[in-house]
Amino acid sequence: MGLERVEGVVIRTRDLGEADRIVSLYTRERGKVRAVARGARRPRNRFASLAQVPIHGRFGVFQGKGLGTLSQGELITSFKTIRTDLVRTAYALLLAELYDHMMEEGEPAPELFRLLLSTLHVIDGSKHADLTKLFMAFELKFLLLMGYGLELDRCVKCGNEDGLIKWISSKQGGLICEECLPGSIGAVEAAPGTIQVMRRLLRSDYRLVAALHVSDSDCRIIKDVLRDSLEAQLSSPLKSLDFLESMISGEASKNNAGRSADGDHPGSNR
Ligand SMILES: [Zn+2]
Repeated sequence: MGLERVEGVVIRTRDLGEADRIVSLYTRERGKVRAVARGARRPRNRFASLAQVPIHGRFGVFQGKGLGTLSQGELITSFKTIRTDLVRTAYALLLAELYDHMMEEGEPAPELFRLLLSTLHVIDGSKHADLTKLFMAFELKFLLLMGYGLELDRCVKCGNEDGLIKWISSKQGGLICEECLPGSIGAVEAAPGTIQVMRRLLRSDYRLVAALHVSDSDCRIIKDVLRDSLEAQLSSPLKSLDFLESMISGEASKNNAGRSADGDHPGSNR
């Protein structure tokens, strides 16, 4: 099959043998691709700095029998802020894990690739205070592109378009009107204003989302609905979620000190 050049983001790494690393890339051209980076755990190896989540680069993958081998690598973006800030690291790891879990190998989806890249840039360059709502916007857009989008304009059961619908169910896939509520599973109450915020998060680009006001109570409701919707599509729980939650609660308790978390990137080798 020979050498194939791809542009991709490292979404997972796993140690192999003494010094190698298996790298999962999400690529523009081929969707998810896995390849062995020979010697990547040796400090002076040419892949050492590239075979890490969430490096964006150009790669040459030599496809033989079985797993491919990385033969070239050239850095495009290192996402330095993400890699030196634990809260941002936690968001990026969750993002990478979602792509690793939900994407199939060799199925390209250019829009999902663009969403991955733009979300990494947003995590890298936004204020900590804006990351919760930006990540909720990501989750809404991601679900839609994956074909699991929540219906936010009408009742999923009867099509009722009443603007005052105030129930939403991740299990049923969107809004539930008052009449369809009996017999609906997992519906939670959300004010019409909360549902309006969800529509804005879904349909606005990240710059507009950053400027959007989302109250704490809206945040809690929307976050729960989105986590349930994502988890319904996964075969196993997300490992990065606990890490993210502990980083966010650590951040909240540290806010009085007025200093954000700083530290090394802990989670690229899993
Ligand atoms: Zn209905």
